[in-house]
Formats: sequence, structure tokens, C-alpha cells
Amino acid sequence: MTGLIGWLRSCERLLSRGERCCQVCAGRIMAGKRRLGMLGICQGCAEGIPWIHLSELTCARCGRYERCPDCEGSSSAASFVQSRSAVRYNERMKEWLAAYKYQRKESLRTVMGGMLLHAYHLHKLPPPGQRLHDGLSDRFASIPAVREYVTFVPLSAERCAERGFNQAEQMAAELARLIGAPLLPLLRRNRHTERQSSKSRHERIENMKGLFELDAYAAIMLAEEAKRIKIRLYVIDDVYTTGSTMSECSRVIRESLPVEVYGITWAR
Ligand SMILES: [Zn+2]
Ligand SMILES: [Zn+2]
Repeated sequence: MTGLIGWLRSCERLLSRGERCCQVCAGRIMAGKRRLGMLGICQGCAEGIPWIHLSELTCARCGRYERCPDCEGSSSAASFVQSRSAVRYNERMKEWLAAYKYQRKESLRTVMGGMLLHAYHLHKLPPPGQRLHDGLSDRFASIPAVREYVTFVPLSAERCAERGFNQAEQMAAELARLIGAPLLPLLRRNRHTERQSSKSRHERIENMKGLFELDAYAAIMLAEEAKRIKIRLYVIDDVYTTGSTMSECSRVIRESLPVEVYGITWAR
């Protein structure tokens, strides 16, 4: 009996100190590390996250952290305003994404969705080197009343059936919850495409043409809303590679709707 009481008391002490398991490695989150606890991960896992910092951004448009030939000279009215990513896609982050997508490690859903908040905050800050009288920085100096919506890059029906979920949709749902914005399933993928990873930038762009369409109901709703207030739409995806997916999503949206498109990806 005393053994049982002792065990219950130690459980109580553990719970009262707010200790719990890391959502990535299952290690214990030490008491007093509440800041790390927000993502539900331990100090070791948190220290291994290669966050992209504002000071590193070299390309104001796509948020690249090195010279950017993709955006130089590309200016189109149908384009996204800018895109930001939370982390660099290094080996560790590739492991996290693979565990989430292919091993269905569900606990990563809230961790990775929560990490998008970093990219969301990067959107709100003027990129380094932008002076206040630059056109770009004017957007930040006097941000007009806007309504924010969150949407996501869709999977094909085949891929969704194979995997059981769309990681971009799940991460988008988490971000929408955190920023208090509605999640809108605006885009549809109208055909299945082979994996893009082995393709060149030109092949990716060609492969993307006509790939997405708008959900009619969501589009009408957004068009009505846009008559009353400026809309900022965040398009969520897991990884930004060449920007061809984000560009094509933006083109399809901007073709029909007077909204500003901002990209947010977990990694790049
Ligand atoms: Zn951990
Ligand atoms: Zn760029």
C-alpha cells in the first residue's frame, strides 16, 4: 500500500511540474523549459532546428538565403507577393518530414504546423536591406486592414488515398488555428503527377501547367469577401524547391480572385 501511495505521489509531482514527452524523440521535456514546451519538443530537438533568420534572407520575394536567379527579372502580376519558409531543408529536417509523411508519425503534425508560425512572422517584417521608403517596405510601414485566410497546396486523389492525409493541409490547419484565421480549401489538383524531385526547373514549370483549379464554392465566397475588405491569402506547402508549385497556385488564384497571395512553406 505504501508503495502504491509513493508511486502515486511521484506521478503527482511529475504532473505538477508539467513534464511531458518530446513529440519528436519521445525524450522528457524538463521542467522550467516551457518555451520549448510550446512546440512540445525537448531542448535537444529544439536546438537542432535550422531556423531561417530574418537577417539571412537575401531574396525579398521568395525568402531565399543566397543569391536568387529564380526571382531576378521575374515580375508578373499573377505572382505571389512573397514567400517565407521556417527552416532550411537539411538532413535532420528531411528525416522529420519523412517520419511525418511516410511513417505517419502523427505527433509531428502539431510540431511542424507550429513551426510555420516562424515563417508567418517573417512575412510581417521588412527584409534586411529594405529601407523604409522602398515600395516593399511601405507595405510594412502602413499595413492596411486586411483579412487573412489560410489555404494549402492540394494532393492528387491518388496520392491522398495512398498516404491517407495531406501534410500541407494538416500543417495549414495548425497554422490557421494558431493565428485565428479561417482555413479555406480553395485549390484542387485536377490530375496526378509523378514526383517532381528528379525534374529540372523547366520540366517542373511545364509539368505544373493547368494542374490546379479553384473550388467553385470557396472561390465565390472569397470573391464576395474581397468586395468588402482586402484579402491576404497564405498558401501552405511543406517544401519550397524551385517555387514552381507556389507560382502556379498563385497564378490560378490571381487569375480569378483579387487577393494577395503569400507563400508559407515549412522548409526550403
Ligand atoms: Zn526530443
Ligand atoms: Zn527569390
